[in-house]
Amino acid sequence: MIWAKEETLSRDEIEKIQLERLKKTVKRVYEKVPAYRAKMEEAGVTPEDIVTLKDIQKLPFTTKQDMRDNYPYGLFTVPKKELRRIHASSGTTGKPTVVGYTDHDLDIWKECVARLAVAGGATDEDVAQICFGYGMFTGALGLHNGLEKVGATIVPSSTGNTEKQLMYMKDFGTTLLVATPSYAMRIAEVAQQIGIDIKKDLQIKTLLLGSELMTEAMRKELYKVWGEDVNLTQNYGMSELIGPGVSGECLELNGMHINEDHFIAEVIDPNTGEVLAPGEKGELVVTCITKEALPLIRYRTRDITRLMYEPCACGRTTARMENLSGRTDDMLKIRGVNVFPSQIEEVLINTDGIGPNYEIVVERKDHSDILTVKVEVAAEGMMDSYAALEELEDKIKKKLHMMLGLDCKIQLVSPNTLQRFEGKAKRVTDLRKDGI
Ligand SMILES: [Zn+2]
Repeated sequence: MIWAKEETLSRDEIEKIQLERLKKTVKRVYEKVPAYRAKMEEAGVTPEDIVTLKDIQKLPFTTKQDMRDNYPYGLFTVPKKELRRIHASSGTTGKPTVVGYTDHDLDIWKECVARLAVAGGATDEDVAQICFGYGMFTGALGLHNGLEKVGATIVPSSTGNTEKQLMYMKDFGTTLLVATPSYAMRIAEVAQQIGIDIKKDLQIKTLLLGSELMTEAMRKELYKVWGEDVNLTQNYGMSELIGPGVSGECLELNGMHINEDHFIAEVIDPNTGEVLAPGEKGELVVTCITKEALPLIRYRTRDITRLMYEPCACGRTTARMENLSGRTDDMLKIRGVNVFPSQIEEVLINTDGIGPNYEIVVERKDHSDILTVKVEVAAEGMMDSYAALEELEDKIKKKLHMMLGLDCKIQLVSPNTLQRFEGKAKRVTDLRKDGI
């Protein structure tokens, strides 16, 4: 099923809507936000210069730093009285990134999430359990309100207490699960530990996953535990742009359909800022063209993807973004080589004899970077056989070398000893600032 007619417009129709909305938004920020006006003046561009869609390239980028510099309300285009909700993303250092919504913004948010939920298999028959942390984070309330709009029954169970989550799932007949990929994996692991057979005892038909990158290897693992016939899609968003609702996969699983009547997506070379041709891989830049309170212009997401415009078998005509290959922030430079944690994950998940949880530690010793990958062996018994461990270690080392072109250290540990995550997984520790 397709939720909205806007998902099936012709390219001409989509672009016509985008241009009209872009013009309006640029005028709005120019008139109402001194920081935007100053940046545009510096770039020598006025709202009148936006005549075609391509003219978006004349506009300066907005970055997370702009949000910090204008903390908390400096980039907002409405008075506080018109704000209906505030959300924030946790700042790793200092102040959080604050976002706000008017009534209109909350409505379009619900609409955008409803579309991706339906594209992922949600219906008004579903009992939807939201295992995202509620609070200032946009993920939980975003999916909550969007799925309510679809007509599902919501179980706002949040994160934590995984055994209780499983009890709700079983007793309430949950059919749809919202979680991060790593938490969906954790739930399956706990189910097994407490003797719940996911495929027999639960009724989960649909998993809507988001808020962290899911590699194809991770998807395969999730199918194994949740069943090959479940609807398993991921969706994309970030609080700065709206929260979840920017894009989401349909059941064809060939990229995430972008809600193009609300967002304009571009892909740029992260080093030069130059816009790349369709199909080329680079950093995703998104402009919000319908939001009232905080319509960011050309926001640099730091996520690496490419855009695809070929028609999709599902019937939607909107452009799709390929599943993320990583974030420019996540990219590790190890002895001069670019390494994404997702590449390491892919190797680990495709190796037999080890579990899906891992940790990456980077250190610097004697002026050289050392990359250590810690991973759990699948069965406790393996820890007793030195020969088996050595063989496994060697196998992982060779595979990683093929993928990355680098030598890594492998540290095999006992099952269930690495940290588990209920929200976004934090798998990388970079200790290089402490070494020489
Ligand atoms: Zn599709």
